[in-house]
Formats: sequence, C-alpha cells, structure tokens
Amino acid sequence: MRRLSAIVTLAVGLGAIDGAALGAERVTILYDAFGKSSALTTDWGFAALVEAGGKRILFDTGNDAAVLERNLAVAGIDLTSVDSVVISHRHSDHVAGLGHVLRTIPNVPVYVPLEPFGVFGGLLPPDFYRTVEVLPAEMRYFGGMRRSDVRTGSLWPQATFVAVDETKEIAPGVFLLPTVSEVPGTRELREISLAVKTPKGLLLIVGCSHAGVERILETAGKVDSHLHLLLGGLHLLTVQANAQVPPRMVMPYFVVLLAIFGLALVAWIAATAVRFRRAL
Ligand SMILES: [Zn+2]
Repeated sequence: MRRLSAIVTLAVGLGAIDGAALGAERVTILYDAFGKSSALTTDWGFAALVEAGGKRILFDTGNDAAVLERNLAVAGIDLTSVDSVVISHRHSDHVAGLGHVLRTIPNVPVYVPLEPFGVFGGLLPPDFYRTVEVLPAEMRYFGGMRRSDVRTGSLWPQATFVAVDETKEIAPGVFLLPTVSEVPGTRELREISLAVKTPKGLLLIVGCSHAGVERILETAGKVDSHLHLLLGGLHLLTVQANAQVPPRMVMPYFVVLLAIFGLALVAWIAATAVRFRRAL
C-alpha cells in the first residue's frame, strides 16, 4: 500500500463543515445519526452536499426521502442547483432518498457503481447464459439467440444513471474512486468514494467503506498522496475499540519508551563508573 501522509479527521455529524480549512470547498452533512445540536433531523444513513470544482454534488441521499426533503429545506439547499448526484453504493440508507431527488431534478446525472445486477440496472454480460443446442428452442434462453442487449431492470427506470468502474474526474479536481469489497458479508459490493483535490491535500468523502478504508485510501493515494480530511462512514462497527492504537499515539509511546530506556542506560553507566572508581 502506498503510504499516505495523512491527517485524518473523522468529522461526521449533521451540519456544515466550513470550507475555510479546505479552500473554496464546502461540505454540508445533510443526513446522519449524530452531530452537534442542529435543526436537522437525525436518522440512520448518510448524505452530504459537496461544493467543489465549481459544482454542487449531492453525495448519497440518506435512509428516508421525507427526512432528506426536510433536512434539505432546513439547510436551505435548493435541489435544482445541484449539478450531479453520487450514490456511493446500493444500501438503502444511502439511496432511499433518491426518489425525492429525482422527482425534483429528474434529469440530473446520477453516478453509481457499475453493477450488472444492481438496483440501478445494467447490461447483462454477453456470455452470461449458455445456448445449449441439443435443447428445443422454447427451452433455450431467447429461443437460442445470443443477445448482447439484455438489460437488467432499475428501481428508477427514468433516472440518468452513469455507471462508474474506474477512477473518473467529474469536475476539475473532483474524482470518483470505485472500489470492490472483498470483506466477508459484503464481498463483491461495489462502492464509490469522492475525492477532492484541495491546496491542503485531499478531501475524501466515503459512504460506508465496505471495501475497507485502507483500500479506499490506497486508491485515493493515486490521485493525491496527501490526505487532509476524511469524512463519512468507515463501517468499523465490528472492530473492537481497543483493537488498534490510533496512529498519532504510536509516536508518544515510542518516545516515552525510548526516554525510559535512555535514562536507565545513563543510570547504569553512572553506577558502573562509581563502582569502578571505588574499586581503584
Ligand atoms: Zn453500506
């Protein structure tokens, strides 16, 4: 894994994260289950408005369309000003508000992970089914025809979905980073993270990090090796709180141990010198 010189801040919670530290960029958390006292309604799930690269991008749509609609109104965000939508992955706590979004801005491009069988619809791989020639035509898929135009259905057939399966720049300095989970329980789940280049380093917004945040960081490192801020879900619910020492804590522990060792060594040398002089 490529090393990231990372200053990682897990700053998820309802409300706006002022762009002062990021340059011209601004992120408004619209949907979350916690945060500072806010007029926004809390609920399980995630959504955020990202203003970067001269664009307004809605990242995920939360768990409930009514809550998203209410929070957008409270935050004073007009959906008609949104340029594009990114759905990080198919889990309903990130996608359930899409119906409200599409009722308001039906033609908005919606970036989604490439999934031939997902809820966003897709194209069936051409070699997906076999044409067994010994069978009569009525027992063979499409009468035995080899078709390359078979689409799987979408829950939002009118939407303009743009399937993403490789790193894609959707606005100046704004990148979509696809990953695929190899973690048991979510194996093969595809997910998109959003990365924004800022003067202070990379602003990285993640949905659930089902592939593992380290995998996402590795992908992000190819855009910019310096991470400034990480926002979103890390899906560490099953990881024990004491399973890892926070990276910033490694250095103090090491320094303290080194100091103790150094003092002990100096004391031993001094004691040995005193004994040696007495022996003389
Ligand atoms: Zn998820």
